[in-house]
Amino acid sequence: MKAKVQIVIETEQHDIITTDIINIHRGDLSSATLGLTLQEAKELTSSTQQVMAIYQLKEFLNSNQICPHCNKQRSIKDYGNITYRTLFGKLKLKSPRLNQCICTKEKTKTYSPLVYLLTERTSPELSYLESKWASLMSYGMTTDLLQEVFPLNANISSVFNNARQTANRLEAEIGDEEVFFINGCQREFDELPKPEAPLTVGIDGGYVHAREGKNCKAGWFEVIVGKSLQENKETKRFGFVTTYDKKSKRRLYEMLKGQGLQMNQRITFLSDGGDNVRDLQLYMSPQAEHVLDWFHITMRLTVMNQIVIGWADSNNDKQDVKDHLESIKWCLWHGNVFKALKYVENLTFKLDPDNENKYDNKDKLYKLVNEFYDYINSNSNFIVNYYDRHHYSISREAFNSSDPIF
Ligand SMILES: [Zn+2]
Repeated sequence: MKAKVQIVIETEQHDIITTDIINIHRGDLSSATLGLTLQEAKELTSSTQQVMAIYQLKEFLNSNQICPHCNKQRSIKDYGNITYRTLFGKLKLKSPRLNQCICTKEKTKTYSPLVYLLTERTSPELSYLESKWASLMSYGMTTDLLQEVFPLNANISSVFNNARQTANRLEAEIGDEEVFFINGCQREFDELPKPEAPLTVGIDGGYVHAREGKNCKAGWFEVIVGKSLQENKETKRFGFVTTYDKKSKRRLYEMLKGQGLQMNQRITFLSDGGDNVRDLQLYMSPQAEHVLDWFHITMRLTVMNQIVIGWADSNNDKQDVKDHLESIKWCLWHGNVFKALKYVENLTFKLDPDNENKYDNKDKLYKLVNEFYDYINSNSNFIVNYYDRHHYSISREAFNSSDPIF
């Protein structure tokens, strides 16, 4: 079978122009030849656009050649070239320069309507997809994917420039950084409408390998990522690099505002207890509560437990240390910091390097237990009764004991 696709254009003057777009030949039917192939679809869209653009431009220039004041034709001085990038390929456009009409006293002698019309040289849709994909994967993968599904030649630098322009524009749209984001007084908060369900925000930091140009070993940098949960609502995520981002608190505030945060609404921040993460949460809302994320407590306990599991069963201390760790976990799970710290203290005496019992990784465990004491002690104000939260909290997902929030 042979198929031919044509485009029929009807101009403003009711002229009908028919142009062939693509010829398709098909032999025996197979799963690969049923319907259109990707290559044919690319040819189809690219050729259709080329033909459409020719007539669109013709009409545009015809109407723009006429002087808007006296309706006389303006003469063409010369032509320039414009390359316009779209999802369906590059359009190479001839852009006429018109002599200004003698009836007007314009500052410039010539006028290029197409230059005036196309202020950007990338179509909005291509710009959108380039920026969106480049925000989700590498510039190289974005380029490859664009070329695979669209009839275009993408290059990394234009994808990069486009993504950066979009990022700069978004950056300029958000307000200035501030320390306080709480506006108003208690009386005003009380008058606000009844708030929606409480928000739970989890924030965590991590280190990522840095790269500068071709140097793949340019050290490390810290990335902070977070997730905001609300019952029956879409989960929102955010992330930034502390050393580069100068508006991180504003970014978090805008995201919460976008989720409908009101000053009379409860909001719980979960974090690992790091100072820079906690500073970020301060003065965000008068109803804010700051909680040490259970995940970070249990993670440290698990590491300590792994060491004890490795000990020989003949080790007399094994069961005792295990029981201690279990008690610490139980106390903290129920929010009893005082009792938990007592158990941690007992454990440090038991593991003291000066006492006679020697076994694998005893010093390592001793160090971890000491660090854990400081960690719990300095975060004691942020430890809650996780058991209660887990059973009664509306934000169950965030307080699930076994899963990290990320
Ligand atoms: Zn005129």
